[in-house]
Amino acid sequence: MGEATQTSRVVILGAGQAGGETALRLRAGGFQGEITLIGDEPIAPYQRPPLSKAYLTGELDADRLPLRPLEVYAAENIHLLLGRRANWIDRQRKRVRLEGGQELPYDALVIATGARPRRLTAPGSDLPGVHVLRSAADVAAIKAELKSGARLAVIGAGYIGLEAAASARKLGAEVTVLEAAVRPLARVTSPEVAGFFLDQHVAHGVQFRLAAQAAVFKGSDRVRAVGLADGDEVAADLVIVGVGVIADVGLAEKAGLIIDNGIVTDRACRTTDPSIYAIGDVARRPMTHYGGRMERLESVHSAIEGAKIAAAGILGAPPPAEETPWFWSDQYDLKLQIAGLFQGYDQLVLRGSMEAKSFAVFYLRAGQLLAVDAINRPAEYAAGKILIQRGARVDAARLSDESIAMKTFLQA
Ligand code: FAD
Repeated sequence: MGEATQTSRVVILGAGQAGGETALRLRAGGFQGEITLIGDEPIAPYQRPPLSKAYLTGELDADRLPLRPLEVYAAENIHLLLGRRANWIDRQRKRVRLEGGQELPYDALVIATGARPRRLTAPGSDLPGVHVLRSAADVAAIKAELKSGARLAVIGAGYIGLEAAASARKLGAEVTVLEAAVRPLARVTSPEVAGFFLDQHVAHGVQFRLAAQAAVFKGSDRVRAVGLADGDEVAADLVIVGVGVIADVGLAEKAGLIIDNGIVTDRACRTTDPSIYAIGDVARRPMTHYGGRMERLESVHSAIEGAKIAAAGILGAPPPAEETPWFWSDQYDLKLQIAGLFQGYDQLVLRGSMEAKSFAVFYLRAGQLLAVDAINRPAEYAAGKILIQRGARVDAARLSDESIAMKTFLQA
């Protein structure tokens, strides 16, 4: 079984989705050594997806955010150090240092430090009332200000920005979304699907300013308006800045690991130091189903898969088979489920009806299915995911024909 079985002390940096999952997977796989999970937030590893959805609207309580109760970690003999920040990785001595000076030795280190929200540099960005949306603490601050009738400006029309807009409408706020690109969701989906979401938000009373640059946040004691580069102004009682995240690579960079939009790893989630793994939002690894293309995916699926792969590596077990990447977004009565990566498609196939808010868009390249965006269409999502996993070629005309059940394509 080699070197990996010699591992007796594992330190995991970052107690988020990926870090928490790794600790539990190690135990589930029979790891008997010491596991220390270090996180700078004050709560047990928790799910972030509800932060812009049911937790923001108040439909999900704070005590339901954690992925597992604290007792589970204690029962599994996982040392959970919460509210503690690591500030140094000493690769020569195989130690991690925490703020305050405590040092923890490791045989294997897993970096799962996630990502932090990109902040704007426009004047006034630090005014009270200008928020980011990444952590439970961020949402607590937003909720205190997001009342019915409040004027909210959302900067950035990605999934998080649009989910925040939908949640805010549900709470009775007046919402304006400002987006630098000419359409929403420009990085993450096709113009057709983006256009559908734009129409849905407009129908729910959201105002859009596209191709708009936030140039200044105005106000003295707190934000009162967003000034645009073209001189216009959008009045705002609060602002949510949702303009993407930056992989939290600081410690890895100081430690001399290779960084390129995330910590670069191999398929086994190993960095250039064989004792150090990197997983989740902070890491960039080759995608088996996409010709080994390097991707840093910001998703629950990627965090869980990275945890499984790293745990297997530490246990000296064979790596688990990789799954087609998946993601979801909830806005109003729309349940979007995504499988695969759409980039590079040369053909788009619509199945179902946009008017009825029940359809799937399939993305093909040279006849091979790359990805599917399914809106209120779980069968198309489920079948699409399997077909992508198989590298299947599909006939576009048949795929758009709803008289042919999705399961027929799986039998082909
Ligand atoms: P994180 O969950 O960010 O965990 C990293 C942890 O490490 C953090 O707690 C961080 O504070 C801590 N940390 C960083 N540096 C240090 C240090 N030096 N010392 C100690 N601790 C440190 N994904 C989906 O698939 N579907 C969705 O619908 C979806 N919605 C989302 C909505 C929101 C609002 C957000 C923010 C994310 C959403 N995501 C969604 C993305 C998904 O939540 C992330 O991809 C996932 O949380 C990544 O897990 P992670 O463990 O890599 O990072």
